Amino acid sequence: MALIITDDCINCDVCEPVCPNQAIRPGPRIYEIDPERCTECVGHFEEPQCQAICPVACIPQDPQRVEPRATLLLRFERLQAQAGPGAAPPAETAQ
Ligand code: SF4
Ligand code: SF4
Repeated sequence: MALIITDDCINCDVCEPVCPNQAIRPGPRIYEIDPERCTECVGHFEEPQCQAICPVACIPQDPQRVEPRATLLLRFERLQAQAGPGAAPPAETAQ
């Protein structure tokens, strides 16, 4: 499932640059995650990088976006294909 940023966000900016999918953007009031780009970091990292770095722990899983790992992996592959040949290979196959 995608993650979601709650109202506890303090707009500290640290999560945006660590997202490997460019899924995090400043919103009108707080930062927001595009669920169509969030893979929970599947394909890139063992754990969600934004969750790991957020100083106020305001990035839970979105209960409205329950998705199995296979779906997240398909999203990762789609995003990689859109990014083109310069994109990083899947972590599982990277040497
Ligand atoms: Fe980006 Fe990973 Fe956070 Fe999703 S879990 S928004 S892919 S850093
Ligand atoms: Fe908001 Fe947390 Fe991102 Fe900082 S790291 S901008 S508090 S969601």
